[in-house]
Amino acid sequence: TRVLLTGGSGFIAAHTLDILLEHGHSVVTTVRTQEKADKIKESYKSYVDKGQLGFAIVPDIAQPEAFEKAVVSDPPFEAVLHTASPFHFNVTDVQKDLIDPAVIGTTGILKSIKKSAPSVRSVVITSSFAAIVDGSKGFWPGHAYSEEDWNPMTQEQAQENPMMGYRASKTFAERAAWEFVKKEQPNFSISTINPPMVFGPIVHPLDSLESMNTSNQRILSAAQGKFKDEIPPSGVHLWVDVRDVALAHVAALEKPEAANKRFFVTAGYFSNREMCQIIKKNFPEFKDLPSDSTAGGDYPEGTPDKGLYSYNNKRSVDILEQFVQFYYKTFDDNRPGLASLYKEN
Ligand code: NDP
Repeated sequence: TRVLLTGGSGFIAAHTLDILLEHGHSVVTTVRTQEKADKIKESYKSYVDKGQLGFAIVPDIAQPEAFEKAVVSDPPFEAVLHTASPFHFNVTDVQKDLIDPAVIGTTGILKSIKKSAPSVRSVVITSSFAAIVDGSKGFWPGHAYSEEDWNPMTQEQAQENPMMGYRASKTFAERAAWEFVKKEQPNFSISTINPPMVFGPIVHPLDSLESMNTSNQRILSAAQGKFKDEIPPSGVHLWVDVRDVALAHVAALEKPEAANKRFFVTAGYFSNREMCQIIKKNFPEFKDLPSDSTAGGDYPEGTPDKGLYSYNNKRSVDILEQFVQFYYKTFDDNRPGLASLYKEN
């Protein structure tokens, strides 16, 4: 399949690119600068040489016409994976820095596909658990989150702080995508992948440790000894391996049953405290890790079985299952997932 992948320089997109190429798809990926394209090229020289990987420069997805040129290719695209969206809390203006690129990026690419890429049949959008979770319910014991849930956040709440702004950006962008399909009845289906905290190995080019993507930053902070005196709250208590998220994106475009569905992809629970314990066990050379008596970072009642929402990921396991090779399915048996991640990397 001929695929357009947006945001190829990102943490999740880089893994997705790997899998698309391994599965034999022909890919054009968008990045913001030629320099970023050149860096990716270095790692994929053989694919570039045989014409299986190309690049398009899209500097700012917040521009409504950003994707006008990128969606047109020869041979034409049959599928689009839209992953690009800001995920950081380093913002001065929630609307301009987070919500606009998320919402305009998503509606802009859908409009451009409808207008200029009639051969596209399937569009997969990286949404988030942020578009599912209802923060006002706190730990919501007794509730099982699933694709049925929608974050009820309003424009006003979005402005409260960057974290709320990020959750809103994902919620509004996903909502806008489903509304577009309903109203415009395009020739293509959409699917959304809604992961909670994504952890895992880095395969994209990193300029410095400080430019580590947002979700992996806490692992870095823990390893650097920043949680020694107190472990910060975990925020969301659900996670998924980045390689499973990438596989889910590719599965969603390969499997016709995935059309017009949301997919809540999670491997299960985690806490910052568990994360620190796992690092400690597997990397005794890190000396400044929290000790058993360090406060914080735990589940609300010390265990995920009590006082905390649960999850229902049946749809993604059923429909995307055959592609899920890493920790997704095994996590619930003895919970080896997060631990094996640290061991391998
Ligand atoms: P990254 O920050 O690594 O990736 C974000 C990508 O979006 C980068 O390629 C970035 O380009 C691009 N981007 C951001 N803003 C713009 C813009 N205005 N114009 C053009 N490109 C832009 O993070 P992730 O890989 O984690 O995130 C990828 C997607 O996954 C996002 O949609 C995010 O919301 C979603 N997600 C991530 C989760 C996680 O825990 N990591 C959880 C749930 C969803 P550049 O680097 O050049 O700025």
